[in-house]
Amino acid sequence: MPERIETESRKLLKRLRAALAESGEGQARLDEVVTIIASTMRTAVCSIYLFRDEDTLELCATMGLEPEAVHQTRLKLGEGLVGRTARTRRVVNTADAPNARGFRYMPETGEERYSSFCGVPVQRLGDTLGVLVVQSKDAREFSTDEVYALEVVAMVLAEMTELGAFVGEGAALSARHTQPVMFKGSIAQEGASEGNVFLHEPRVVVTNPIADDPDVELARLRDAVETLRVGLDDLLSDNKTNDTEQKKVFEAYRMFANSRSWLARMEADVENGLSAEAAVEKEQSLFRARLSQSGDAYMRERMSDLDDLSNRLLRILTGQGTDVADVPDNPILVARNIGPGELLEYGKQIKGIVLEDGSVGSHATIVARAWAIPLVINAKGIVREALNGDSILVDGEQGIAHLRPDETVQGAFRDKIAMLTRAQERYASIRDQPAQTKDGTKITLQMNAGLIADLPSLDGSGAEGVGLFRTELQFLVRNQMPRRAELSALYSRVLKAAKGQRVAFRTLDIGSDKVLAYMKPNDEPNPAMGWRAIRVGLDKPGVLRMQLQALIRAANGGPLSVMFPFIAQYDEFRAAKAEVDKALARERKQGRPLPSDLQVGAMLETPSLGYAPDAFFKEVDFLSVGGNDLKQFFFAADRENERVRKRYDTLNPAFLQFLQSIVARCDAHGTPISFCGEDAGRPVEALVFAAIGIRSLSMRPASIGPVKHLLRRVDLGEVRAIIDDAVANGDQSVRRAVADWLVYQV
Ligand code: PEP
Ligand code: MG
Repeated sequence: MPERIETESRKLLKRLRAALAESGEGQARLDEVVTIIASTMRTAVCSIYLFRDEDTLELCATMGLEPEAVHQTRLKLGEGLVGRTARTRRVVNTADAPNARGFRYMPETGEERYSSFCGVPVQRLGDTLGVLVVQSKDAREFSTDEVYALEVVAMVLAEMTELGAFVGEGAALSARHTQPVMFKGSIAQEGASEGNVFLHEPRVVVTNPIADDPDVELARLRDAVETLRVGLDDLLSDNKTNDTEQKKVFEAYRMFANSRSWLARMEADVENGLSAEAAVEKEQSLFRARLSQSGDAYMRERMSDLDDLSNRLLRILTGQGTDVADVPDNPILVARNIGPGELLEYGKQIKGIVLEDGSVGSHATIVARAWAIPLVINAKGIVREALNGDSILVDGEQGIAHLRPDETVQGAFRDKIAMLTRAQERYASIRDQPAQTKDGTKITLQMNAGLIADLPSLDGSGAEGVGLFRTELQFLVRNQMPRRAELSALYSRVLKAAKGQRVAFRTLDIGSDKVLAYMKPNDEPNPAMGWRAIRVGLDKPGVLRMQLQALIRAANGGPLSVMFPFIAQYDEFRAAKAEVDKALARERKQGRPLPSDLQVGAMLETPSLGYAPDAFFKEVDFLSVGGNDLKQFFFAADRENERVRKRYDTLNPAFLQFLQSIVARCDAHGTPISFCGEDAGRPVEALVFAAIGIRSLSMRPASIGPVKHLLRRVDLGEVRAIIDDAVANGDQSVRRAVADWLVYQV
């Protein structure tokens, strides 16, 4: 870095630090900042635009433009050169602004007098907070060194904005993270809960963006990088993997940590006046901006490695975010997204979840649903806004989260919780009654489970057994492969807790979004249609064999029910069943007791199985429709992609007709069929399934009450007639017709 620039940037920061350190009103500080930048950089104009709301930028301070325009001039994201800088998160540097692409004339500012323009995004951890602009009359591009100095200043501005240094009265900025904010997302799990924000990735707060003494900061930075490297070396040497692919990934990671250019860039930032933390963040923001724009999967992965390393480094430097025990009372988990394994690790202490992304079909959602934890997904912007410990209300009934709610909202919300509690009491009163419709049809309602902790719900919900036991959850919660004896002990506890009721154990269903930390990751272009479930079980049968043995031992001479996930053709079922036969033979040879009644079933999750030969339907002991997967393949709509998932309704006549054809084939062969996807737990869907002939449904325990409550009030013949009418009408979905009819029934 040339000497002059270093001095310029440092000089600028030194003057800024003095100005920012003075106590004073936020607006006065902002005004001082633009004056200092304009005079130090000898530009006619310096302005700061900050986001007023998600997509409106507001001129908050200026030196050079008309003062009356401050807090009046607003731009939409992408509008004008300022909006373009914010949207692209890239520097816009032009000698001829009025003729540059996207220029927008704003008469109130008087900026038409200026020819050159340089806009630098003000960003913090990939979050764009505003734009810093300098302009001058002469037509020139700003030099690389000048742009660099502006970027360094923008970094400091971002930190100071985050810390609330520019907050003020009247038209000025209001403090970040203090106002009530409502987030409208989508419903993933109903229910309502009140609690405090628990951030999955705690926000690191940097209080000293400008270095007091660059030498001290350099030493802190180098020490922290060294600690990071040693930590990684330990981590990698502890991991005794023989897997060469995995080793390669680790090595790439270590290579980044040792990257000279990464450290060199951060050192240069410190030399130029930033503190060690601010330097790490500056580079991290750069990666994040590139990450969001890169279409190359390999590059994205490498950059996300760097992102992860930066987070570790920030935690080392600040000591923040390392205390995992710091969970608030009634924690409401707030995250961009979360995997099923991570959620299982947090456990049931979580009272609610709000995700910025997330999806209704993901396995994390299934876990939340199983635990009846209210879950709102697609709450855009919440991660940026929420602070650990903030009060928050999760309204899973409407897909809304209220962050830092005021008293009126809180009052209304508590009334809602009371109402939901009363509904639960109503369901409890029919717990021991059968799910029998008015026309006398008995529907078997079972529950889905996956953990020992789920089993007490068998009694509480009135479920008649477990229609789907997702065995993979036990594999996901561990950091190493469970052993056979462990599994067998666990399955026998499950059977004991079921007190003689049927439990349909589904063999390991991994792949897709269920990734085991201790198994080689598969870099597949489309994991949902990739090497998953029974495909893994048959290609690498070691785990399947161990699991089958563990199940037979757990049954200990009693009845046992096993089913295979994702069977797409008859042969796969035959091969899986052959593994059961082999396992039985081995056990017999060892003189161990065999199950008194062994039922071997298949999950129907791909349309192909609906067209399997008659021999399959004869051979299989029972079928369970995995509606979550079946629907995604039937409509070719990714269950985890919210945009396409919602286009297709489960109650679309085409899907119902397909289900009905499967029911007919099962009836013809006397094959019991049940439905265990999430839709089984939605009352209207459950009703329609019953009307088209499905007599057994398996769902999360909390759904049994509402589903039973509805079934007991209707005549299936009447429902059937409504469905037939809607289909004859050419309706896109029978939902509207059934729901309208229901209004008069219940
Ligand atoms: C399904 O696909 O409907 C199912 C029950 O299996 P999972 O959701 O675990 O994939
Ligand atoms: Mg499935």
